[in-house]
Amino acid sequence: MSLRELCFQASLNSLRTGRLATFYIIDTTLNRNGWRVTDEALERALPTLLGKPLGCVPGYGVNHVAEPQIVGHFITAEKPDGYLLATAEITDPTAWEKLQSGEWGPISVVIKAHRVRCSLCGADVTSGPDEHILNGEAHQVVEDFTFERVDFVSNPAYPSARLITLKAAAVPYEETPKAPMDYPWDADEAERRIRIWAGGPDKEHIDWSRYRRAFAWYDASDPENFGSYKLPHHDVIDGRLHVVWRGVVAAMQSLLGARGGVDIPESDRRAVYEHLAGHYREFGREPPEFRASRSIHSGFGVKPEGGGVEEMEELRAEVESLRRRVERVERLLEASQRPKARPNGLDEVRLAMEEARLRLFGYRRDS
Ligand SMILES: [Zn+2]
Ligand SMILES: [Zn+2]
Repeated sequence: MSLRELCFQASLNSLRTGRLATFYIIDTTLNRNGWRVTDEALERALPTLLGKPLGCVPGYGVNHVAEPQIVGHFITAEKPDGYLLATAEITDPTAWEKLQSGEWGPISVVIKAHRVRCSLCGADVTSGPDEHILNGEAHQVVEDFTFERVDFVSNPAYPSARLITLKAAAVPYEETPKAPMDYPWDADEAERRIRIWAGGPDKEHIDWSRYRRAFAWYDASDPENFGSYKLPHHDVIDGRLHVVWRGVVAAMQSLLGARGGVDIPESDRRAVYEHLAGHYREFGREPPEFRASRSIHSGFGVKPEGGGVEEMEELRAEVESLRRRVERVERLLEASQRPKARPNGLDEVRLAMEEARLRLFGYRRDS
């Protein structure tokens, strides 16, 4: 495994926030500070960006900041065509807000140059400029360097160096009050209450960043849609958001592959797992082991070698939530069979079944 892969693995394993920002970092053109890096140097320097900090300099954007502040770390880097694109995980919530609002965008890269030449005569100017550079006839060509850090700035040395995209998919873990351990979990009822709590129930009035807090994952490319939110496990009790143990278990089981698993990208699973594992610890329970792939697993999500109280509890929570769903579908069926039922009653039942399936299994059936 190369150094680059190693760094990448290490950072993926510690990925917690799910807040990812991709930047245009640097290219091979002459920058505003009068130097440029060669294509080969950029290629070689690529892996040295992994794990390096993204920060902001004193006083920048946040008045009270008196020393460089680290707001994230780089986890991927690639060089598509003469320029470098890199993704950082943003660990600072304030920085994330500033990126979302567009207040922060331009960045500047800090490098350590190991070999520099004069563009005119080719002299080694690593330890200091020659007369060509000093009198402006030539510029410095960096032939070997490593990345030190990247900072948010007002005036980037490279005009294109700035934020390209943001992506947040796993909802960051948040400690909320706990419902009693045996508090019943009904995902549909919980979602109904959460919609109202978030300003709804109608879509137009929902505060989506509030709504999100009840779930472990959402589709960041379509955030204003109820269907984009998955793995609910919080409920509203006495007007406050609470975490519900049985909901946490159901979400974890679903993530780790029970009943076919939930359809979320492989790259987000770890962060979703960390969120739910945080709730396990809150309830004084050991979270199940993380599994990246759900194909290893089948059946009800109970490891045969495990046994014991916790798994019985998990199983019971799961059976209970299934039972509630079956009851609801039966009620709908009953209603649709009554003579007064609207002609599209069966469609409603089918839709309800589809909806239940979507929630339970995380996918729709093709039909
Ligand atoms: Zn020279
Ligand atoms: Zn949560």
